[in-house]
Amino acid sequence: MKIEILEKNGNSLRAIVRGAEVPLMNALRRISLAQVPCMAIDDVVMVDNSSILQDEIIAHRLGLTPLKTDLDNYNTPDDCSCQSEFGCPQCRVTLTLTAEATDGTRTVYSGELVSENPEIVPVSDKIPIVKLAKGQKIKLEAYARLGTGKTHTKWQPVCVSAYKYYPKITPPTTSCDDCKKCVDICPKKVLDVKSAKIAVRDLHACTLCMDCVDICPKKPSLIKVEWEKDAFILNLESTGALPPERVLREATKILKQQLKEFEEQAKVEI
Ligand SMILES: [Zn+2]
Repeated sequence: MKIEILEKNGNSLRAIVRGAEVPLMNALRRISLAQVPCMAIDDVVMVDNSSILQDEIIAHRLGLTPLKTDLDNYNTPDDCSCQSEFGCPQCRVTLTLTAEATDGTRTVYSGELVSENPEIVPVSDKIPIVKLAKGQKIKLEAYARLGTGKTHTKWQPVCVSAYKYYPKITPPTTSCDDCKKCVDICPKKVLDVKSAKIAVRDLHACTLCMDCVDICPKKPSLIKVEWEKDAFILNLESTGALPPERVLREATKILKQQLKEFEEQAKVEI
């Protein structure tokens, strides 16, 4: 299997994967979504809350605030030696929030959360948590832990995890009367006209919708759209908790481990 990075832009990654099959691609997609761990707030102790939002809603908003994750220095609660319900410094990060509206209505943002570990902080400072009217205040302690998306979406490190077949387009050659209908109908503007001939402008944008094939007045269609059976375009977009390439690396590690366990179990049963 060969992976070639097409585009790496902040939290998003697009790569061509060659020499793979659908089950493998789907396993990587699903593991990236549901089994690669990341940090999220899991417990909130409300000390004071005179805002109009109930404690549970604020806790829910805090839980869904993506946190930068350090996978190398923290254990998941299940794997931690403490085996404690409350956790220990190896499996839990404490964040505090104290805010008061003294001069008038104001919004409390995620950037006001103070973390005991400066590496584990919200991905963005600008996520609104609650709005306080004059005189209202909020004080709380929140505990973040590692978890996985299969337990709760807040532990999902990616917001996009998808793949598609690598497209193969053969533009019309000789007998085309250049009606250009295929160029105009393409929602992704994959085709273009170059020196009075239909040409492929952006192959990777093709979603294999077949609109260009269907609209061609000649039957069978003069434009041919196919896909490569063992090549895919993988698209990963991280929430910011982990870099997308790290998510992919962790997903392959988890898959390898699961295959090893399966092999061992299969051996025992045989
Ligand atoms: Zn622990």
